[in-house]
Amino acid sequence: THFGFETVPLEEKQGRVNHVFHSVARRYDIMNDLMSGGLHRIWKDTFITNLRVPKNGPFRLLDVAGGTGDIAFRALASGGENTRVTVLDINSGMLEVGRERAGDRYGDRIDFVEANAEELPLPDESYDAYTIAFGIRNVPRIDKALAEAYRVLKPGGRFMCLEFSKVDMPLIDKIYDLYSFNVIPQIGKVVTGDADSYQYLVESIRKFPAPSVFARMIEDAGFKRVTHKPQTMGVVNIHSGWKI
Ligand code: SAM
Repeated sequence: THFGFETVPLEEKQGRVNHVFHSVARRYDIMNDLMSGGLHRIWKDTFITNLRVPKNGPFRLLDVAGGTGDIAFRALASGGENTRVTVLDINSGMLEVGRERAGDRYGDRIDFVEANAEELPLPDESYDAYTIAFGIRNVPRIDKALAEAYRVLKPGGRFMCLEFSKVDMPLIDKIYDLYSFNVIPQIGKVVTGDADSYQYLVESIRKFPAPSVFARMIEDAGFKRVTHKPQTMGVVNIHSGWKI
């Protein structure tokens, strides 16, 4: 693409990503806590607060790259009886852990779909909101995923994305690099026995476009009122756009 963040050929990228998440699915939740020092919980809470799930009235959320369900469970907790969430992920291993975590607590308010973000097996204009948390950077063709997000949203629907970004503050960027290139793969090695997978994830953060560039891509997909809010000194950003 013209954004120039691909070194792995596109066709190979998805295979690598799938291998990473199959290999870490069982340890995924604990790894998130260890690597972010629990911060991912705060980012996800803030993300859902920003989404403002209505307490009353029907609300249908599609959580893409939903993995083990962190975003879905938060949305269900913050909404009301008429909140329904579809957790969609390409990886059966991640979804299985998500299903186990959900148990039968939510009944038919939650469902799980194994599919690719680039080709959603879902009808046009069927969701009030689309979320993707720490998922978009794993998708090989981001423009396709954004076009699909636009398609399945109802008019008036909202797109929201939570994603890591390169830090551009002096000193903080150095600390961040040291941490991500040395500490994260080491934790990965100790906890999952798989340092390579985590090395790959760290690199994928590096290669992901800067927040303002990604915001342009969201606009190019047709979304309006596109904004991004940096969190924790810009380590992550909350992106938002509306289909109007
Ligand atoms: N959203 C969850 C969270 O915040 O904890 C999981 C994020 S995890 C870092 C990334 C997820 O993206 C994995 O579960 C992976 O299987 C999924 N994924 C990767 N490529 C995908 C694709 N093309 N379509 C759908 N999901 C994908």
